Amino acid sequence: MLNKKSVDDINVKGKRVLVRCDFNVPLKDGQITDENRLVAALPTIKKLIGDGGKIILCSHLGKPKGEPKPELSLAPVAKRLSELLDTEVKFAADPEVVGPNARAAVEAMNDGDVVLLENTRYRIEETKNGEAFSKDLASLCDVFVNDAFGTAHRAHCSNVGVSALVDTAVVGYLMQKEIDFLGNAVENPERPFVAILGGAKVADKLNVINNLLEKCDTLIIGGGMAYTFLKAKGYEIGTSLVDDEKIDYCKEMMEKAAKLGKNLLLPIDTTIASQFPNPIDAPVDVQIVSSDAIPADMQGLDIGTKTAELFSETVRSAKTVVWNGPMGVFENPTLAKGTLAVAQAMADAEATTIIGGGDSAAAVNQLGFGDKMSHISTGGGASLEFLEGKELPGVAAANNK
Ligand code: ATP
Repeated sequence: MLNKKSVDDINVKGKRVLVRCDFNVPLKDGQITDENRLVAALPTIKKLIGDGGKIILCSHLGKPKGEPKPELSLAPVAKRLSELLDTEVKFAADPEVVGPNARAAVEAMNDGDVVLLENTRYRIEETKNGEAFSKDLASLCDVFVNDAFGTAHRAHCSNVGVSALVDTAVVGYLMQKEIDFLGNAVENPERPFVAILGGAKVADKLNVINNLLEKCDTLIIGGGMAYTFLKAKGYEIGTSLVDDEKIDYCKEMMEKAAKLGKNLLLPIDTTIASQFPNPIDAPVDVQIVSSDAIPADMQGLDIGTKTAELFSETVRSAKTVVWNGPMGVFENPTLAKGTLAVAQAMADAEATTIIGGGDSAAAVNQLGFGDKMSHISTGGGASLEFLEGKELPGVAAANNK
């Protein structure tokens, strides 16, 4: 699954190349408020321009659900990309995405030209991988490049459908980086391999826990999901977050860890408060107690100091660390200490350090450790499915080497 052809394996001189990018950027009043995704897409686009290809870009933006919505048009992206690339990116403003404007623009392209299509989710078939739209997209190009990891766990027209209809379908640099880091970490890690899971609910990460337990040396569980494990051990957890239906599952995972000889680390102490702060960043009175001594009317909202030290030590001695999910309610400064400690330990570790997207990526960036990590995945859902050991349709669809 992981040995995919990339843009470095092909030369697209004179060819029409459709590139699926992730231009799903935040917009306010028609202005792009965070252009990281555009900047991240540039290396692949520049490589293809350098080859002398005719570059046709496409992406989704937001959730128009099959209806052209002017506020979700990619027009502002074309404008900004023209500036970033220092070359005109012609915008094909067809409500049906592949319509007269797109066809005429592609027809008129010279080598090295760049065209951007309208939001792929203006078409209702896009998220259903419908044939008509896949054929429309394929009719525009000779080669397909997928550089949108964030949608790789979904089979849509603009990643999977179109791939099946062209002779050459490869991955771009962003996709390649995700495959290299996440794939290697899970399948071929330098050991010790420590996986850290946190976040709100056990139920969201059942398959990730199960799969990582088989692959890693130590699995650390923190955040809201830890209390279900603590309850499964027979501890009083007060009013902490709990998935009562998953208690048996947690017991099973603890037994599995013991059987496989893996370390499964749970919080040994925990930061508690009488109530969840409201608003989330409001001042909150906390105490730290041993994990088996949570009073019945209190709730755990972060790992405790001893746990932060234990988790940090484990992380510092690792060679590969994968982290998904905060250790506590990091949105509140009083309850961000556990998450901060783990982020600091990852930054200090002489290891390959990987953040699995979503909230954890936001936490690491917010705490100022973004540039200290080896890799921060751009896809929350996609990276979780990768960690579950699932085959991602958007990756599988690319040609093998
Ligand atoms: P994503 O799936 O997008 O990567 P994530 O896996 O990083 O997200 P979530 O499962 O969405 O994380 O959980 C993050 C949320 O969990 C945060 O908003 C945080 O406040 C909350 N959280 C962490 N610890 C606790 C706790 N002990 N009690 C209640 N909520 C908690």
